[in-house]
Amino acid sequence: MKATAPREPATSPATPGPHGAPPAFDVEAVRAQIPALHQEVHGKPLVYLDSAATSLKPRCVIDAVERVYARDCANVHRGVHALSERATAAFEGARHKVRRLLGAADSREVVFTRGTTEAINLVAWSFLRPRLRAGDEVLVTELEHHANIVPWQLVCAEVGARVVPAPIDDRGVLDVAALGRLLGPRTKLVALAHTSNALGTVNPVAEVAALARAAGVPVLVDGAQAVPHGPVDVQALGCDFFAFSAHKVYGPTGVGVLWGKLAHLEAMGPWQGGGDMIRTVSFEGSTWNDPPHRFEAGTPNIAGVIGLGAAIDWLLGLDLAGARAHEQALLARATDALSRVPGLRIVGTAPGKASVVGFVLEGVHPHDLATILDHEGVAVRAGHHCAQPVMRRFGVPATARASFALYNTLDEVDALLRAIERARALFA
Ligand code: PLP
Repeated sequence: MKATAPREPATSPATPGPHGAPPAFDVEAVRAQIPALHQEVHGKPLVYLDSAATSLKPRCVIDAVERVYARDCANVHRGVHALSERATAAFEGARHKVRRLLGAADSREVVFTRGTTEAINLVAWSFLRPRLRAGDEVLVTELEHHANIVPWQLVCAEVGARVVPAPIDDRGVLDVAALGRLLGPRTKLVALAHTSNALGTVNPVAEVAALARAAGVPVLVDGAQAVPHGPVDVQALGCDFFAFSAHKVYGPTGVGVLWGKLAHLEAMGPWQGGGDMIRTVSFEGSTWNDPPHRFEAGTPNIAGVIGLGAAIDWLLGLDLAGARAHEQALLARATDALSRVPGLRIVGTAPGKASVVGFVLEGVHPHDLATILDHEGVAVRAGHHCAQPVMRRFGVPATARASFALYNTLDEVDALLRAIERARALFA
């Protein structure tokens, strides 16, 4: 059945504070809304420093997902009964909320996917593949997540094109001049992370997009790590595509977004076939629905999308400038304290970083370190962070990574440091 076109809701979801001012940022008030924070691990209070892998969820998101299954449990776009209408309204309402979050011009530019990974694959196959010829190039950077490397390798392998990385320096800063020199007539797409998950580097996306635009090359931005530390404005960035995942921005897993300029989406063929993405079907041939539904074949993750809508309401109701300043204070405290630990090296020291700190400790494998920290209640990630080329660039097989969200506290930074001291003592 044909999906309905999204319509703008009349309401603005963010609740204003007194006298219309935004509510002040208050970390304890935020923490009170996140149930998973309030537990013990191995008999110690949980210190969750793995939000770059996935963020913990506020109660309102959990409730929104529960409400779908407990009350508004119906398929979307295909029922005239009350439950389906409620589910469809909430589902399409979430699309408008994403449009607002990203500063996009039109809700039809918002495609729901399973996540950042699927959004990038969609662009690889639907947008790039038909335009790609032997000898062409996709320009990425050395600091990309595998999700922004491998999909391009797959399409390039089909035609004899190749993926070319622009270099970063020893701090993890992108060499924009070198990227500019790599941009050429063979370049069919520039694909870069807004924020690196392994290093915390925030790339100068608007500058890169301007360079690419001047060369007539479209730009995809992997925004998986940027949206949680927002704000993001896709129009100000000047990119063509932008991808992010709900689960990293306080929403549910299994949902993400591809934002694409409407002209691109309208020119793109479908990626997957099935229900909702068609206008007509016959055995002689089928015709396609308009964007965004053209790219949303089959029953979507309805509860996940509605949960993402709730996460956006929640986020936009906070004092985001205050939250960002708080995250930067956490980063500064952690960077300062970790820099003083003998034998510890921080991997990724770009100025203006997001609140992500990768590090290695002499004589202790990152996995062993993360296991010891876990026994102290401190959750960090250890490994290559799906960024093996970055690890290679810095000459390490893996790092331990502490990533801070707006619900973390300065005391938790201190707990991380105490746990690292304990690990050092064990290995001394
Ligand atoms: N890009 C970056 C920078 C990431 O950090 C991640 C996840 O860690 C991804 C892409 C992939 O996101 P997902 O697994 O949600 O599709």
